[in-house]
This record gives sequence, structure tokens and C-alpha cells, in this order.
Amino acid sequence: MATIQLNDVVKRFDDVVAVDGIDLTVRDGEFIVIVGPSGCGKSTTLRLISGLEDVTSGVIEIGGRDVTGLEPNERDISMVFQNYALYPHMTAKRNMTFGMKSAGDFTDEEIEQRVTEAAEILDITDLLDRKPGALSGGERQRVALGRAISRDPEVFLMDEPLSNLDAKLRVQMRAELAKLHDELQTTTVYVTHDQTEAMTLGDRVAVIDAGQIQQVDSPQRLYDFPENRFVAEFIGDPAMNMIDVTVRDGNAVHEAFSIPLPAGENTVGSGEVTAGQRSAILGIRPEDFYLASEYPDMGETTFPATVTVTEPLGDSLLLYCRIADTEFKVQAEPRSTLQPGDEVELTYDPARLHLFDPETGDAIYHSESAPGSEEQLEQPVDE
Ligand code: ATP
Repeated sequence: MATIQLNDVVKRFDDVVAVDGIDLTVRDGEFIVIVGPSGCGKSTTLRLISGLEDVTSGVIEIGGRDVTGLEPNERDISMVFQNYALYPHMTAKRNMTFGMKSAGDFTDEEIEQRVTEAAEILDITDLLDRKPGALSGGERQRVALGRAISRDPEVFLMDEPLSNLDAKLRVQMRAELAKLHDELQTTTVYVTHDQTEAMTLGDRVAVIDAGQIQQVDSPQRLYDFPENRFVAEFIGDPAMNMIDVTVRDGNAVHEAFSIPLPAGENTVGSGEVTAGQRSAILGIRPEDFYLASEYPDMGETTFPATVTVTEPLGDSLLLYCRIADTEFKVQAEPRSTLQPGDEVELTYDPARLHLFDPETGDAIYHSESAPGSEEQLEQPVDE
């Protein structure tokens, strides 16, 4: 196992700055996920750690050793890619062992033992004599993982390894990967554009946009305390609603409502963000809105909205609502009978309000630390 350290790493491809000054520390044995939209520089970051790409500037260390100028095979890493990269004419076993012998690091007995162990962990012992064409997608992916495991590297680097699998298999393999990491505790960097995968797999998640790290945190903290608007909208599905408001004397004021802002956590500058007057963007997640008829004691105020579209999601009913000229999403009870055109009275969880600066997008306030909000939520509805 090993730590990985990226210090001010930059990668340019001619005019494109793919990685723009990334600082990142991956702890020994940690599973860190790099997540972000297409083209944000995730794969390039991983390829720089692996040595498949050279940095334009900056330093990369693995296990305290400067590996910036080293070849991939000198870095003690194993990579798993999206497309498995298995040789079609070789058996699963040969795919797993290929190159191990010529590298000279392992004897025949060691190779045999490692493949046997890896195959057992991944439950592919019975498949070792088959060629990739005779394996399912999930089985092929396990062989690719087996190849990485049998090398017992300091570091696993994984680039969207599950994205070729169907949804059900992806969920299953996700759980297997988590189990595998629990067992092996190998430092892992995992790249995905799928925020659910990032949240479920990562000890910590690094959110990247435009080649820059936006926030590195535990999944729950990313969800509860996003440091900027990008993270707030990227993490969570459906995405957080963003509503233009004016903050005035402790209230988020919109033409159709005024929401009192609890004391909360002010994240920039000095003093209370909510005390004076300023324009801001109010962030409320769809799951933090409630129908006032069902939760009368939730928020301090309620306000009317018109349902424009309904989307049944099975475990919830997603309502698209309009209030004045503002559209936003509300996650309602799954068996709610609401229809487009219905008028609803909405309320919200007062411990789940966020404010963002309209210019910079930085989070300036979260209401979560508001004293008393817990008690307020726990009041029985009919009291
Ligand atoms: P995706 O999720 O679509 O794979 P990504 O976040 O992994 O995206 P990268 O593949 O790291 O993104 O690419 C980051 C940027 O660098 C993109 O604008 C891409 O076009 C550019 N880029 C990547 N590799 C090269 C290359 N070899 N030559 C030129 N530009 C490149």
C-alpha cells in the first residue's frame, strides 16, 4: 500500500489545459473516486498518475517516492480500464498472467499462487480456461480485475471499469469492488462520471471541473456541505434546485415567498451572511421540499406552487413545480395522486438550506448547523 501525492500537476495538450494545477493527497489504503463531467480531465489525471502521460509541470509521488519521470512499469501500479483490454486469443488465466513472467518479478510458483488466490476472491476459478469471447461482460470485467489483483500492486488505478456493464450488473460489481477493497485495502484511485458510483464507492470523492478540483470530501459532506454551486448541482440526483433570491434581514426573499434563514453556518467572510442585504442563490434539494398538508410543522412558512409535470420514479413522485416565474423540482411521496395543473402548498426542511454567491458560485451559507432545527424536525405532526 502507498500514499499518492499530486503537487500542482498540470497537463496541456497544445491549446487544451486538461489538468489545471491539481493538488491531491490519497491516503494509504484509501479508496478515492475522481468524478466530474465528460472532458473535465479525470482520465488524464489517472493517466498522469499511471505514467501513461507525462506531466507538463508538477510532481507526482507514490509511496513517498517521486515517480514523475518514471515509466508505468516502474510505479508499482495496476490499471483496470473501461474496455477490459483482454487479449481475445488468450484464456482468462493467460490474460491474468501475461507479462508477469517476463517482468521477472515473480517465479512460476508465485504466479500460480497469485492467480489462484485472485480467482478465488473474484469467484472466477471455473472460468480460467475460457477465452474472453466465451465470457459475459461481468465475467470479463472480473478477469480484468483479477489481472490487476494478481500483481499485488501498491496502487490500483481504475478508469470507468464498470461503464460497459448493464445497470444490474454494474450495481452488483460495485458491491464486489467495495468488498474487494475491504479485503485488500490497496490504495485505489477510481475515475467515473457517475455520481452514484462515486458516492457509494469512495472513502472520499474528488469532484473535478475544467481540470480543477472543486472539492475533496466524504460523500456525505459533499452532499450536505457543497463548497460551491458546481458541486451542489453535480452531487445528488435529481439536482439541487437553484432559486434567485434576495437575502434581507435573515430571510431569503423571492417574489412569491420569504424563507427565514436559521443561524446556520456562514462559510465566507466575517459575520452573518444572512444579516444584511445581498442577492444570492438559494439551493434546496428536491427531497428537502415537502407538501405542507403532510408535514405542517416542517418549515416556518409555506407557499403555493403549481404542478406542471409529474414523473413517477417508483420510490418517489418527482413533481416539476412553478412558482411565479421560477421552476423547480420536488420529490413527493410515491403514491401521491397529484396531477399537472394541481395547486400545492409547499414547505421545506429548514436544516437543509444553502446559499451561493451569484458571481463566484461559492457557498456562503448552510443552515445545517442551525441550533434547534433538529428538535423542530422531531416534533410530532399533530402536536
Ligand atoms: P470523459 O469522461 O469523457 O472520458 P475526462 O474527464 O476523462 O472525460 P479527459 O479524457 O481527461 O476527460 O480529457 C480532458 C480534456 O483533454 C478534454 O478536453 C480532451 O479533449 C483533452 N484531451 C485528452 N487527451 C488528449 C490528447 N491526447 N490530445 C489532445 N487533447 C486531449
